[in-house]
Amino acid sequence: MSDDGGHLVEDCIFCKIIRGEIPSFKVFEDDQTFAFMDINPINPGHALVIPKFHAENLYATPDEWFGPTMATVRRVATAVDKVVQPEGMNLLQANGPGAKQSVFHLHMHIIPRSADDGATMNWELVPGDMDAIGALAEEIAAAVE
Ligand code: AMP
Ligand code: ZN
Repeated sequence: MSDDGGHLVEDCIFCKIIRGEIPSFKVFEDDQTFAFMDINPINPGHALVIPKFHAENLYATPDEWFGPTMATVRRVATAVDKVVQPEGMNLLQANGPGAKQSVFHLHMHIIPRSADDGATMNWELVPGDMDAIGALAEEIAAAVE
């Protein structure tokens, strides 16, 4: 009998980490969230925050789990900032293979950064086509539920 309220699944590496079936470098845990170090860090201090609710991605995550997840992100990112004292910090969250998602249990990356760390998430600011941006904004605004 599991004590996870039926929110976790068997065959998921992050659900297994929450249950303690796979070891992790835990940095914080509360009723709804779990935070641990990424074992393939982009930079020292790279951490992950997950809800104790198995949802594949952002779209499948209920607000009542996403809100607490972001509260833990803020809390843990503040601790990482204090300890690592990086030049900056990026939060990242991948949805789908095209975004290089590799673990299909929602997770927020906390990534300490420096301007010259060579991480490939940097892009130059190139002004877009304002008509195209405006047209998409209308479509997206109408699709918000
Ligand atoms: P993503 O590519 O956004 O799905 O990120 C998945 C992240 O999970 C990667 O950065 C991996 O390094 C990390 N990861 C995978 N397995 C583990 C694990 N057992 N412990 C800690 N981090 C992991
Ligand atoms: Zn899971």
